[in-house]
Amino acid sequence: MKADNCIFCKIANGEIPAKTLYEDDKFRVILDLGPATKGHALILPKDHYADLFELPEESAGEVMKLAKRMLIKMRDKLGCEGFNLVQNNGDLAGQTVFHFHLHMIPRYSADGQKIGWKPQEVTPEELEEVKNQIVG
Ligand code: 5GP
Ligand code: ZN
Repeated sequence: MKADNCIFCKIANGEIPAKTLYEDDKFRVILDLGPATKGHALILPKDHYADLFELPEESAGEVMKLAKRMLIKMRDKLGCEGFNLVQNNGDLAGQTVFHFHLHMIPRYSADGQKIGWKPQEVTPEELEEVKNQIVG
C-alpha cells in the first residue's frame, strides 16, 4: 500500500534514489540527507504508514529487530560510541515526513549534537494523577 506524493514511499520502493544500507521485501534502510552525525540512517517500511499509530504491531517489532542489527553493523564499521533512536509522531513532535521512519543516530565524542529534553519538576501526587489518567 503506497501513498501518492509520499517521498518516502518513492524512496523505499526505489523510485527515487537514496544511499541504501539494507533492503528486504518489507524495509529499506537509507542514509538521512540532513544527517545529525556521520551515519545517521532511517528505517523505512516499504508500505505507507503515516506514523507509529498506523504501523502494525508486527512491523513495529520487526523495525526494532532491524534497528538492533543495523546498530551493531554501524558501531563496528563507523566506530561510534553510542546511538540515539528517535521516532517522531506528529507535527508537534517534530515529524516532517509523514511516512513512518525510525532515526538511528550514531554518537561520537565531541560530535556537537544534543538530543534530549529539559526535565520538569513534578510532585509524587502529580505522577500518581498522570498514572491514573493513563492506566486508571
Ligand atoms: P522527521 O523530522 O520526519 O522525523 O525526519 C525526516 C527526516 O528525513 C529528516 O532527518 C530529513 O533530513 C530526512 N529527509 C527528508 N527528505 C529526505 C530525502 O529526500 N532523502 C533522504 N535520504 N532523507 C530525507
Ligand atoms: Zn509513504
